Amino acid sequence: MRIAATVAEMRAVRRDMTGDVGFVPTLGALHEGHLSLVRAAREQNQHTVASIFVNPTQFGDPDDFASYPRDPERDLALLRDEGVDIVFLPESAEIYPADASTFVEVEHITDTLEGEHRPGHFRGVATVVTKLFQIVRPQRAYFGRKDAQQLAVIRRLVRDLHFDIEIVAVPTVREPDGLAMSSRNALLSVSDRQAALVLSRALRRAEELFAAGERDGETLRSAMRGIIAAEPQAQVDYVSVADTETLRELARVEHAALASLAVRIGGVRLIDNVELKSE
Ligand code: AMP
Repeated sequence: MRIAATVAEMRAVRRDMTGDVGFVPTLGALHEGHLSLVRAAREQNQHTVASIFVNPTQFGDPDDFASYPRDPERDLALLRDEGVDIVFLPESAEIYPADASTFVEVEHITDTLEGEHRPGHFRGVATVVTKLFQIVRPQRAYFGRKDAQQLAVIRRLVRDLHFDIEIVAVPTVREPDGLAMSSRNALLSVSDRQAALVLSRALRRAEELFAAGERDGETLRSAMRGIIAAEPQAQVDYVSVADTETLRELARVEHAALASLAVRIGGVRLIDNVELKSE
């Protein structure tokens, strides 16, 4: 496995690659969710490139950026075991020159949910993903459904800017008790870890109601809010039942919806989602 620390190095190794390249961008602090993206990339491409970069421009809160878990040595060992060919591990100054003045903005679908609650977040994501796509030049790039709005934003970015890259969506990997895997889970205390189960429990409730025929958006949202309200350590950022394309709240679900939520547990902000879909 090669480690490229600079754009020039990454470009040099990329030039020598023949055949399809699958790319997995990450913030590091890797877990089984990330590794399932890597495995999908390995299956579908001759070469696999992963990146580890805690992108400062997608963090609004400097404390959140500072406390984000980092463990590059462990990450590299995991990626080596998975058979990744190249890891792009740049310093911030490599990606953002001091006088960087070009940013990528995806409009409209970033107005709601994460975009609404984390102003500037998707501008940072779209900018760094554009840069990484330019540097790595993959045929395919792998993104988790865990970050459903991010996936929608990337698909829109690729379409609108004519990137010749196939975006592959990978299902959310969960702990046996239902908690969606996340690098931020490492920041939870033992009791917060237990309280964090409200996210998947609330989504399961929405799934059950939907399966039983409930189609009223507010009834579904209110059932999820009720479950979270019963957990004293949990504080809701948003609870949503939205159109899968526009990500706008639905009064009524016709065939499908994205049920999603963001909840703070002991200072750690967690997100999760499921797709509600009629048979
Ligand atoms: P992150 O390091 O959090 O930016 O995540 C990097 C990629 O891994 C993104 O495409 C995420 O959607 C994906 N990912 C994170 N957690 C999970 C999970 N539990 N299951 C599937 N994919 C995930």
